Amino acid sequence: MILRSADPGTDCIRVREPRACITPTQADLEHAHRLLGEAILFDRHNDLPWAIRTDKKAPGDIVAYDLRKPTTGQTDIPRLRQGGLSAQFWSVYVPGELTCGWARTQLEQIDLMRRVIARYPERLSSLRARLKTFARPRKPAASDRMLGIEGGHAIEDSLGALRAYYDLGVRYMTLTHNTNTDWADSAADVPAHHGLTAVRRAGGARDESHRHAGGSLAHLRRDHGGRAARVARARHLLALVRTRGL
Ligand SMILES: [Zn+2]
Repeated sequence: MILRSADPGTDCIRVREPRACITPTQADLEHAHRLLGEAILFDRHNDLPWAIRTDKKAPGDIVAYDLRKPTTGQTDIPRLRQGGLSAQFWSVYVPGELTCGWARTQLEQIDLMRRVIARYPERLSSLRARLKTFARPRKPAASDRMLGIEGGHAIEDSLGALRAYYDLGVRYMTLTHNTNTDWADSAADVPAHHGLTAVRRAGGARDESHRHAGGSLAHLRRDHGGRAARVARARHLLALVRTRGL
């Protein structure tokens, strides 16, 4: 389903996954291509860095995982072009289920994706040009600052780590993934805090919107998303919202 955005001052179109898989007709495809010619298509979640890290043939090898050719995964440059993608948030996912080393793995994921972005400048220059329209009148976002963290476990309870991730290009962080953190409950875990803890209500969620960084409420227990949204005050992107009462 393709919807016009209700956000004032933007021309973006939001795309939601259809509930049922329907084979498009030629007329549907032509309609979609017409829309893509006019619109900015902004994908807010792509797990390419994890796909490269866990590739069976050459794990973590960004040269072997050649995006100029068809890949075995879901992303390569020919398909990004064919799909009319204008802008992409690259998810730098780290499993919360790890028993240690979340921040180290997070840094490795950020490093991997930054090297991938640097390797394909021809793709990214066109992306920047289209973002000028989307981001007006603000400075267009550079492609190496379009990373998103999945789960607050990646900061290991350190706001300093969060600020450092920002400087490396991270522009949103989901509060949780499939596991609770020391300060927020995940929708997929046993409730421990009944939402956000008091400390993080006051500081963490606010800092998540640090200097335009986006705060995402995906995976947060759905009855506590409204609280997080009220606390995180700045102009941030609430992506993948699965919460009640927003
Ligand atoms: Zn993901």
